[in-house]
Amino acid sequence: MRATTVAVAVLGLVAGLGLPQAQTPPQPPATPPQADAAAADPIKTLVGRLELEKYKATVKGLTQFGDRRQGTDRNRAAVDWIEAQLKSYGCTPTERVRYDYKTPEPQGRGGAGGRGGATGRGRGPDEAQGGGRLRGIRTRTGVNTDPMAQPDEKLRTLNMQPAADGPREEVFCTKVGTTHPEEGYIVGGHMDGHGWGEAANDDGSGTALVMELARVFSNPDVQTERTLRFVLWNNEETGTNGARAYIAQRGPMQGKEDPPGSRKYPEPTWLGMIQHDMMMFDHGMPRPDGTMSKEQRPEADVNIEFQVNSKMAAESQKLAWIFEQANEKYATDYPAAVSSHMTNTDSGPFQDLVPSISLRENERGTQIGAGWDPQWHQPTDVFTTYSDKDFRLGLNAAQTTLGAVAQLTGATVKK
Ligand SMILES: [Zn+2]
Repeated sequence: MRATTVAVAVLGLVAGLGLPQAQTPPQPPATPPQADAAAADPIKTLVGRLELEKYKATVKGLTQFGDRRQGTDRNRAAVDWIEAQLKSYGCTPTERVRYDYKTPEPQGRGGAGGRGGATGRGRGPDEAQGGGRLRGIRTRTGVNTDPMAQPDEKLRTLNMQPAADGPREEVFCTKVGTTHPEEGYIVGGHMDGHGWGEAANDDGSGTALVMELARVFSNPDVQTERTLRFVLWNNEETGTNGARAYIAQRGPMQGKEDPPGSRKYPEPTWLGMIQHDMMMFDHGMPRPDGTMSKEQRPEADVNIEFQVNSKMAAESQKLAWIFEQANEKYATDYPAAVSSHMTNTDSGPFQDLVPSISLRENERGTQIGAGWDPQWHQPTDVFTTYSDKDFRLGLNAAQTTLGAVAQLTGATVKK
């Protein structure tokens, strides 16, 4: 009754305004809407080629090498396995960066040693690594070094060989741009881990994400105008030494055609560096008794960080918002949030050189640093710890980066 009265009143109002009384009904589209949308947006097609089960299988594959600690046979075997996978995707040729790693002499108190101590001064009681404030409930964090903390005997044995100083290798592959092979973006994750688990989340989850993107972009029907380089860093956990070696060796080669006239650019000019490090676990803040929610929190998000105290802060922030927009458009389940304190990851060494961001399950300084990921560098960072909701957060980060870099490199799909 009331609804009718309102409808009549509205009609009267419309008539009074002199608006058209009869409107042409909308015409049905010539092609089904879904096919139309795919034709209009090739990026949607590409994002649709990411699958939860494939992502999980790649994480699982990485966990067969235990914690993949740098300087061990299990780490070298993992590099070989990753390279074989990249080749099987058609991301060829694969290449390796070679460098030496020597464990630094231990630093005394107050020294600039450690990954958070670059400023050479101590942090205040509520100051997080990378800046920002620690708030709310905090729990202890650290790296497990006790083999007996790993209850799985088989995994404990697999992780037994200690790291030895010496030569190191890390692998990368490239999708060469068709019209601008001389410039492009670096998409990275670190393949090494530690803590006597399987480094499933840190950073099997980021490594698998990069590998899945390499798979999608290497499909023969995909073209990009600009270049995409997929790098699986080694030695992140010792202080981003693999990324630093890459910068030292390959930075000076940027944008140089070699051999001249070949249209080949062994190192494209870097337009940006996008790092992926711990992609799966966002269960919220620890409870007052130090325990955590067993379930992924429904309001979980992908954290996109840039470093406000870097030379490229303005450009990096711009890049971060492009990723946030790509998340809105292409990620199926979880949103993204942008923040300004990127730290302790392989995009750090790039942050004063080129636009640099990292994607993560939580903010590294204020949240992970406060104990929001109880598996971090612990024996519990194993594949079986995570549920599909956790893996799905990693998949959503993959959808975000794929959407963003497809747009940035001008990706198209051949009919
Ligand atoms: Zn990590």
